[in-house]
Amino acid sequence: MNDPAEDLWKAWADGRLCIQNCTKCGALQHPPGPVCGHCHATTLDLIDIAPTGKIVAWSTVHRAPSPTFADEVPYTIAIIAIDPTTFIESRVSSAVVESDLRVDMSVRIELDEIGGRAMPVVAGLV
Ligand SMILES: [Zn+2]
Repeated sequence: MNDPAEDLWKAWADGRLCIQNCTKCGALQHPPGPVCGHCHATTLDLIDIAPTGKIVAWSTVHRAPSPTFADEVPYTIAIIAIDPTTFIESRVSSAVVESDLRVDMSVRIELDEIGGRAMPVVAGLV
């Protein structure tokens, strides 16, 4: 069995905006894991997602969690709802003004390189 997190990192590195999906019950799941959090099936795959979501919360990081990000502080992280029960954490592009962010606001998500890895980034407001 492949490591589900590594499968996701590879797909993102290949430019595919996706998250884990249960092929038995259809639930989306993030972060990825070896079993479905809803039905416990192990039949999980990656499914492409729309490049949009809604802001649930955000926070600005002033102290880097590791040396990898030390040169990038301060930066903003947001929790984005992909659907009503599925969330991803995304860096907010420096092109987005933090004071413009609002809960439930629609945002555009793109993959961009953060700390040497492709990750979802809030690229703009919709
Ligand atoms: Zn399931």
